[in-house]
Amino acid sequence: MARIVVIGGGVGGLTSGMLLARDGHDVTVLERDAASPPDTPDDAWNSWDRRGVNQFRMVHFFAPRFRALLESELPDVVVEAEALGALRYNPMRLVPDEMSGGYRDTDAEFVALTARRPVMEAALARACARTPGLDVRRGVAVSALLSDGDVASGVPNVVGVRTDAGDELHADLVVDAAGRRSSLPAMLTALGARAPEEELEDSGFMYYGRHFRSVDGSIPPLMCGLLMPWGTVSTSTLPGDNGTWGLAIITSAKDAALRALRDVDTWMRTWRALPLVAHWVDAEPLDDEVAIMAKIEDRHRSFVVDGLPVATGVLAVADSWACTNPSLGRGAAIGFMHAVELRDLLRVASIDFPMELAQRWHEVTEATVEPYYRATLDFDRHRLAEIDAGIEGKMYDPGDPQWEIGQALTAAAAKDPDLFRAWLKIIAVFACPDEVLAPPGVVQKVVELGANWRDEPSFAPTREELLAVVGG
Ligand SMILES: Cc1cc2nc3c(=O)[nH]c(=O)nc-3n(C[C@H](O)[C@H](O)[C@H](O)COP(=O)(O)OP(=O)(O)OC[C@H]3O[C@@H](n4cnc5c(N)ncnc54)[C@H](O)[C@@H]3O)c2cc1C
Repeated sequence: MARIVVIGGGVGGLTSGMLLARDGHDVTVLERDAASPPDTPDDAWNSWDRRGVNQFRMVHFFAPRFRALLESELPDVVVEAEALGALRYNPMRLVPDEMSGGYRDTDAEFVALTARRPVMEAALARACARTPGLDVRRGVAVSALLSDGDVASGVPNVVGVRTDAGDELHADLVVDAAGRRSSLPAMLTALGARAPEEELEDSGFMYYGRHFRSVDGSIPPLMCGLLMPWGTVSTSTLPGDNGTWGLAIITSAKDAALRALRDVDTWMRTWRALPLVAHWVDAEPLDDEVAIMAKIEDRHRSFVVDGLPVATGVLAVADSWACTNPSLGRGAAIGFMHAVELRDLLRVASIDFPMELAQRWHEVTEATVEPYYRATLDFDRHRLAEIDAGIEGKMYDPGDPQWEIGQALTAAAAKDPDLFRAWLKIIAVFACPDEVLAPPGVVQKVVELGANWRDEPSFAPTREELLAVVGG
């Protein structure tokens, strides 16, 4: 079994750390932020200092795939999360029978186990603390990688890390889970490696988020999807732990007129103007300001360039490998899937052959999580372009059959119980659009029921109405 150092103790680092330690590896997770997880959900929310994760207090929803992986791979985290008040949430229990066709036994797969981000991370941290072979060291930042030379010309082999304090930790494998701003490429080039191939663009969205709590622990009734497009804005309504939930208004970063949403009164007024979600703010706010996030990048790194790994002995997981605009709420589930794939690969591939290991990690990543990244990116680009067209008063019609069929599926899902479940499989991160559309007859049914999706009744305010509300 191997000595493994994991850089970063966020969702990807903690799930990787536990999975690898429980497989018998000797694992050390190094996390730059010093603060330990607080004992209560309120303290986790109010006072856990996690400045290493920009989105720590931004709205989060943990998709059903995340719950499914917890139950199969790390069931004690489910116990910890529920002890901290995490919510089991199944939309199939909440939608009218006309949409669902009545609850079916198989609908249990759509249960999410969700919580505010600090609360879910505290549950992961608690389970880590009871995992033999796993040492999570907080307040330790990695500043450089160590190498014992090149395995091939210009391909350094990594054998450990150096911390900010100058300590060196040697390892058979370094796993980088340092998140969307990981400095892995810089650390690699400092060793003389070629830079990984990076696709990078500002996703172009802005988030204006707030959290609320009900008096009686209930969650507001569901009257539409958790992520909804309303003309030139989208909303997220994300149930959480202990009768809390997060709400976000998502805009195009170009939309200067909507920057006024940073003001609490403007945000509230605007939210109340969106009929099917307005009731979500009839509750106690948990914050007295609007949390804002912009410059959220879509980034993808390939560590095999021209058929050759840029380095060996170091593998990137979760957001360090790829991340997108998070409106679909998939990052944690995809990161966890990636961590499971890493654990599984190390069961069959030898750390003693680092070149093969790096190559196979690249292949496994491409085969398993890459399709989810590409599908998310595709959705994001279209939705942003649709918003930007709406700002200019134009109809968005890119002539892209994939966008058309995706939108048609969303419309058709409301009219056919089987298509509703197919659509939910995508939302739940159990499948990519291609997979649910593949069975014979599905596309035909989607087209029959959803091709006229542009003519569906809309509850969105017009652009003029929206600007009037925002302007007060
Ligand atoms: C606005 C926003 C909303 C989101 N909403 C959702 C959602 O609803 N659902 C969902 O599933 N996902 C969501 N995500 C994505 C989700 O937060 C990420 O996918 C997830 O956190 C990735 O985990 P990670 O471990 O890769 O990175 P992170 O959780 O960011 O953790 C990285 C860790 O590495 C540490 N670190 C960095 N550099 C070093 C270093 N040199 N040495 C030591 N430690 C280091 C950091 O301190 C941090 O703790 C959202 C993201 C954003 C930006």
